[in-house]
Order: sequence, then C-alpha cells, then structure tokens
Amino acid sequence: LERLRGKLSRSQSTLGKGLLGLLGAGNLDEDSWTDIEDTLLMADIGAATTTEIVDKLRERLVSRGVRSAAEVRALLREVLIESLHPEMTRSVRALPNNGNPAVLLVVGVNGTGKTTTTGKLARVLVADGRTVLLGAADTFRAAAADQLATWAERVGAEVVRGKEGADPAAVAFDAVKRGVEAKVDAVLVDTAGRLHTKTGLMDELGKVKRVVEKQAEVDEVLLVLDATTGQNGLTQARVFGEVVDVTGIVLTKLDGTAKGGIVFQVQRELGVPVKLVGLGEGADDLAPFEPGAFVDALLG
Ligand code: GDP
Repeated sequence: LERLRGKLSRSQSTLGKGLLGLLGAGNLDEDSWTDIEDTLLMADIGAATTTEIVDKLRERLVSRGVRSAAEVRALLREVLIESLHPEMTRSVRALPNNGNPAVLLVVGVNGTGKTTTTGKLARVLVADGRTVLLGAADTFRAAAADQLATWAERVGAEVVRGKEGADPAAVAFDAVKRGVEAKVDAVLVDTAGRLHTKTGLMDELGKVKRVVEKQAEVDEVLLVLDATTGQNGLTQARVFGEVVDVTGIVLTKLDGTAKGGIVFQVQRELGVPVKLVGLGEGADDLAPFEPGAFVDALLG
C-alpha cells in the first residue's frame, strides 16, 4: 500500500497540496473560495462535485471552528472521502468455488489498458492460488492477442485465441467452453473495444455476452477507463453502460499525468463502483480502490 501511495502522490499531490495551502491560509475571502473551486475544477473534479465539496467545507469550517493546520487537513480528508461515496465501494466479486469458472468480461475502448488490466488481474488471481484462462477476444487490434498470450505465459495462465479478424464472440465462446471443460477457477475475456458507432459496439459486445451466457453466468463486466482522458472517459462509460450491465470500473493510468479528480465523478455520475485502479504498466500495478487510501495519497 505504501508503494501505491507513493505512485499516486508523486503525480497527484498537487491537488492535495494546493487545497491544503489555500484552506490553511486562514481568512478565507470570496477570492480564496474561487481559487479553491478552480483548483478542484482543474483536477477534473466536475462542477457538481466541486460545488458539493466547497459547500461542505465552508459550512463545516465555521460550524466546527476549524483553525489549526491539522484540523483543516482532517476536515478536508473527511469531505473528500465523503465525495467519493465510500458506501459504494465494492471489491471484485469473490470467485465461486463450485467447479464452475467465474467469468469476467473486460470491456472498454482500445488504448484504455484493457489487455494490460486483464493480464494484471490474472496475475492477482494466480498469485491467490486460482487457475485462470484468458480469452483473447480482441481480434481487431492486431497485437492484442499476442500481448495477452505474453501475459498468460508470464503469470501462468492458459490462453485461448482466435485468428486475427475472427469473430470476437466466437473466441469468447471457445474460451469459456474450454474454461468450463478444464474446470479453471476464472475465465477473463479481453473484448474488442472499437467504438466507431454505438450500434456496432452494441452488436458486438451484446453478442459476446449472449454467447458466453450460453455456457456460464457472467460474474463481472469490468469497464476499463483511462483516467487521463477525463470527461471523455465518462462519456465512453455512458455508452458502454447502455450496451452491457457494467458491474465495476477499472480506472487505469492514475500513476501518469492523470489528475485523478475523475475518480470523484465516476461513481457519482455513473452509479457504478470503481473496483480497481491501475497504477502503472507492471504486473503488480493493479490495486483495489479504497477511498481513504486514495485521499491520503492526494493529501500526501
Ligand atoms: P487496450 O488497447 O485497451 O487493450 O490497451 P493496452 O492494455 O494495450 O494498454 C495501452 C497502453 O497503456 C499500454 O502501453 C499499457 O502499458 C498502458 N497502461 C495500461 N494500464 C496502465 C496504467 O495503469 N498505468 C500506465 N502508466 N500505463 C498503463
């Protein structure tokens, strides 16, 4: 956890530091509040959440007579955690242990980190003593299947892949079929992420889900969003949400140039819990999302 904190705080503590600096300066006039608002907005924390945070801070600073730097920090921590809606926090569903594989579909637009996330998740499960099969159903991006096969080898998972350009649903079907036969604990299906047209996506993803459901229940549909794309990620999420029942969000690239504020918007606007965060390209750079730890990292 300390290592993850380090990763987050290096890139994002500017938000925490900025807020602590502004709030700690005392004598908060209207200009200071405008600066606080701007700091929140610039960090990708949308308008509605920003208003919510500022209102709470203004009210509680006065009603509680907050003065010292430590009190300011504690109040800011409390308000930021509340704004992350910690009551929504969920982990990836526990895998059933009944001889049937858990089936997880990993969906999202190309480039968001879908394949990498699938590999990292396999690593977590294998490290936990589970047998895992990876389905390379992203048959449109030329390198995706090779990339997933490399992950499979690296983490000790089986992989099922089709020919380039094969029907993604056919590959997903074969992967789940093989997973059921081999009695693996989990099948993770990396799906294609073309978002040319909503109908195309709807047909493709809908079909993947339907054929998979012929053989096993789908336990999770994880939507991968790139945190560096800000508002755009939210738009993508809405489109995907109309096509499949997304059960959780994986927010990737929080280690990079992401402002991180998008986390505040995702749960609130989408009503879907952020379950995992991606903190780098390495195999161990996937962590459960914990509001408290996240805010602590922001505040440095
Ligand atoms: P896909 O097209 O959605 O399957 O995307 P990939 O899994 O190929 O990832 C696209 C790029 O993002 C690759 O260079 C990954 O190494 C990188 N990437 C994925 N997740 C993360 C992350 O959490 N942090 C960083 N910094 N890079 C990531």
